Amino acid sequence: MENERFGKPFTQQEPVPEEGIAAAVEILRSGRLHRYNTVAGETSVVSLLEQEYAAYQGVKYCLATTSGGQAMQIALRAAGVKPGTKVLANAYTLAPVPGAIYAAGGEPVLVEIDEDWHTDISDLCMKAEASGARYFMLSHMRGHIADMDAICAVCDEFGITLIEDCAHTMGARWKGIRSGNFGRVACFSTQTYKHLNSGEGGFLTTNDAELAARAVVGSGSYMLYGSHGAIPDEDVFQRVRLNSPNCSARMDMVRAAILRAQLPMLENNIARWNERYRALSRGLMEIRGLRVPWRTADEAYVGSSFQFQAIGLAGRVPALVAACAERGVDIKWFGDDTPHAFTSRYDSWEYLGYLPNLPETKRVLSTTCDIRVPLTFSVEDCAQIAKIIAQEAVRLMENKAVE
Ligand SMILES: *Cc1c(COP(=O)(O)O)cnc(C)c1O
Repeated sequence: MENERFGKPFTQQEPVPEEGIAAAVEILRSGRLHRYNTVAGETSVVSLLEQEYAAYQGVKYCLATTSGGQAMQIALRAAGVKPGTKVLANAYTLAPVPGAIYAAGGEPVLVEIDEDWHTDISDLCMKAEASGARYFMLSHMRGHIADMDAICAVCDEFGITLIEDCAHTMGARWKGIRSGNFGRVACFSTQTYKHLNSGEGGFLTTNDAELAARAVVGSGSYMLYGSHGAIPDEDVFQRVRLNSPNCSARMDMVRAAILRAQLPMLENNIARWNERYRALSRGLMEIRGLRVPWRTADEAYVGSSFQFQAIGLAGRVPALVAACAERGVDIKWFGDDTPHAFTSRYDSWEYLGYLPNLPETKRVLSTTCDIRVPLTFSVEDCAQIAKIIAQEAVRLMENKAVE
């Protein structure tokens, strides 16, 4: 009993809803998979999805893309980033973020994070001042939303264009405002492990007409942009259509059909994620040596993953990861010197050509433990996971041998 093992995989998502499967099969039968391959009078499924996501997000314009990373590249270019443009970015994020900045020709200026995995506001000011960077790609990493009043105040003070990476905050809000609606443009991912699942995919949203038009043309619309679902007027396209490179990152019909079936379920799924998040939180909150983040009432988060800091196990996090793995619990550790699977620390992005020194980020990541919370786990599963982590952490802290 003491050494019970958890038996479910941490990477198993729920199936695509039946109506999504049926719609995808119908598209496969039709042979018309490309978003511009419509018959007379037909609105593309991708355009319908763009309208529906724009309505959900509460914005005017939406573009569906092949991935979140492509949405970020397109957003950076459409916002004006050119080769050599400096772009601020919080250093705790996933590799596609510096990758997108690099691919757009930008030069990332990495910013420290604080204890709660938020962008460190004073370091943001310092780096903005010292580098002269006028763009900020803000990753709401693992769904932790920083004080957006403070972030927006810094952006206003320095004249910084804010681009939000909402890969982990689709559906989240801060002070009632949807994450993604603070900056000039936002990017979302519909890759399998995010809040909607089309294997790969993404969205770009904005209320800026010129930026939206540049993004649509930049996604590879050719001169067929007029068939898109949530776009500005033709006169805006007339101004930008010859000045945006075609970067071929369009979403196809099958993925759009799969996503359209999932979007109506998102709000309910957020409630389900948060029940599971709370079970994990409850199970680990009282354990001495583990620090579970305090989420403020301003933040309506989506608990699709769970983080804690094993502060009582500084230097021994790998032992905790190993002990939990033995019992079927997958913990990811962003503090490792060598990148593993999906995780990598900022100092392993060597192609950036400079090695920033971010001691606070390194220190916070050295004790940061991260777990996925797929909806195939029940609330009881999450309570069991917390119990296993707690037992192993306490055992290690008491330095008792593991039986
Ligand atoms: C997944 C992810 C992305 C990119 O999404 P893809 O669709 O996989 O390209 C960007 N930022 C963060 C923080 C992510 O986790």
